Amino acid sequence: MAVNPGDNGVVPFKFVSGDLSLDFVNTVDWTDQGLRDERLADYDSLVHWAESSGAISADVALRLSDRAFSGHEKTAALSVARELRSILEHVFARIARARAPDEGNLQALNKFLGEALGRVHLATGSGEGSGGALQWSWIGMGSEPTCMLWPVLWSAAALLSGEEVQKLRVCAGVACGWMYLDRSRNGLRRWCEMSTCGARAKARRHYERTRGRA
Ligand SMILES: [Zn+2]
Repeated sequence: MAVNPGDNGVVPFKFVSGDLSLDFVNTVDWTDQGLRDERLADYDSLVHWAESSGAISADVALRLSDRAFSGHEKTAALSVARELRSILEHVFARIARARAPDEGNLQALNKFLGEALGRVHLATGSGEGSGGALQWSWIGMGSEPTCMLWPVLWSAAALLSGEEVQKLRVCAGVACGWMYLDRSRNGLRRWCEMSTCGARAKARRHYERTRGRA
């Protein structure tokens, strides 16, 4: 949910959802009037988000920043990222309301997923301590401009097909639209964050009560 931008005018990233793919959806506010407070303003902010979220390592982030992607490649990658985010928002919002996602969005998600999972690669572990386990990685991680989306897709697929999908909620805050997994013991979490949407609702209730009294 929106907070005041910092001194540099940048709205900070937040990681409050409990899932990488939901945190990705929460890089913008989904309001009735359209998108607000875009945090993925340019390609560099996409790379920065991916590193901050743990989707990619600092090493991969550095490689992406160092690579001489053209302006066109960066713009295209950013637009692909926003497209995926929009598809995920649709699918998650439907599922959170116990409705099936529409076929077009599901197909688009599956297309993204197919491209990402085609990159998964298993290799023999290095060193003594691997215990014989194979190590998995992504082919092209750090060299494709949209590689940070692969772990996001992995996370989305795991969430959508797992038991925790029942805990998927959309924030009850006005003009927020952020999503999270309600892992609270009583299952009554209503807000993306108590300190923003929760506090705002509380202030509104207080205002309405005192106005009613006046
Ligand atoms: Zn919220």
